[in-house]
Amino acid sequence: MMFDVLILGGGASGLTAAIEASGRGKSAVILEKNPRVGKKLLQTGNGRCNLSHAPLLTENNYFGDILLADHALNNTDLPAFFESIGIITTADESGRVYPHSGTAASVLDALRLECRRLGVTEQTEFKCVALEKSDDVFTAISANNERVSARNAVVATGSPASADDVLLKQLTARFGHAPVPFAPALCPLITDERLVRSLKGLRVSANCKLISGERVVAEERGEVQFGENYLSGICVMNLSCFVNHGENFSLSLDLAPDFTEKDLVLYLRRTFEKRKAAANEDKLTGILQKRLALLIDISSPHITAKHIKDFRFPVMKKAELSKAQTAVGGIRADEVDDRFQSVKTHGLFFCGESLNVFGRCGGYNLAFAFASGIKVGKNIV
Ligand SMILES: Cc1cc2nc3c(=O)[nH]c(=O)nc-3n(C[C@H](O)[C@H](O)[C@H](O)COP(=O)(O)OP(=O)(O)OC[C@H]3O[C@@H](n4cnc5c(N)ncnc54)[C@H](O)[C@@H]3O)c2cc1C
Repeated sequence: MMFDVLILGGGASGLTAAIEASGRGKSAVILEKNPRVGKKLLQTGNGRCNLSHAPLLTENNYFGDILLADHALNNTDLPAFFESIGIITTADESGRVYPHSGTAASVLDALRLECRRLGVTEQTEFKCVALEKSDDVFTAISANNERVSARNAVVATGSPASADDVLLKQLTARFGHAPVPFAPALCPLITDERLVRSLKGLRVSANCKLISGERVVAEERGEVQFGENYLSGICVMNLSCFVNHGENFSLSLDLAPDFTEKDLVLYLRRTFEKRKAAANEDKLTGILQKRLALLIDISSPHITAKHIKDFRFPVMKKAELSKAQTAVGGIRADEVDDRFQSVKTHGLFFCGESLNVFGRCGGYNLAFAFASGIKVGKNIV
């Protein structure tokens, strides 16, 4: 059977592109390598799916080719799309938008129900290894040499943060694209293992600064999580966007962000006085968790306050791609038009993470995946 459109990848952007295209009368097939579509969607937002942000502004929230985010989000009514497939959304106080049901599974179910209603064909366990075009027909070829053909093709395979990039490499060579190499974005930051080993598993609320030399590059407040040799958490992942290769960075944690240094000194002076006879490990009880307190210099209230407000960790490097929530890299803004159609090959479209743009934590990445999928699905002729 010849389809109007074949969609490589059944993730957030691919499912959305399929809905929009088939809603306009196009026959669509989704080719997904996993046994089920939307596996990653289920992990998002810790299973709650932070699917957008309100307001959804591109400036300072997207990195890479920001023009791509503008193309996707301008004139795209995401709330109307969610409503049209039966998803009611609600935003928390910081603007993170979640499904009212509170579960990512319900978002995936809604997308799949709509695909089924519109007659989208789902072909799973189809790991596409090559895409060919001849006589205006695209043919996707799987690792098992199955073939599916259509008049248009959409690449919605995400990034190597979740998959491999064999297909993108083949496409690059076949259709003359030169994507930006993929690298981790929104990822934990690796530090000196000796500094954090004893803190593994701990979560603390902190104001976190990314520092290069004496310069504060960026600053975020939130929960920091300690791992075996890394720091993580939403604020650290957001700061990782600014970590470039070749520059020396450190993370400075203010572990008492609601205190000024002066107030903290006064507090510590009083507390140390009262706890003269207490064991060293109990001196900071009531202000820091014990495992953390054990690493703080308690030689004087001044020194302790300084240490609590500027607890430093060198950044050795970013965590590897497989630990990242998303990746930077992919098809560049100048390789597609404002409908995400390849400028090199008519009928070839890209959406989601295969494009060279990514957003901060907070719903920006799924918002881009959905919005770019909508744009592509609408524009297939
Ligand atoms: C743990 C985690 C939590 C996250 N939480 C959030 C969040 O709460 N909010 C947010 O905005 N963003 C979040 N993100 C990022 C968000 O999930 C992605 O930006 C988004 O899913 C990208 O959508 P996509 O359609 O481009 O790619 P994906 O959703 O990754 O879909 C790509 C699909 O293509 C398939 N595929 C890949 N290669 C092939 C091939 N060769 N042949 C056939 N199929 C293929 C994959 O199996 C996959 O199903 C999170 C990411 C992770 C890893």
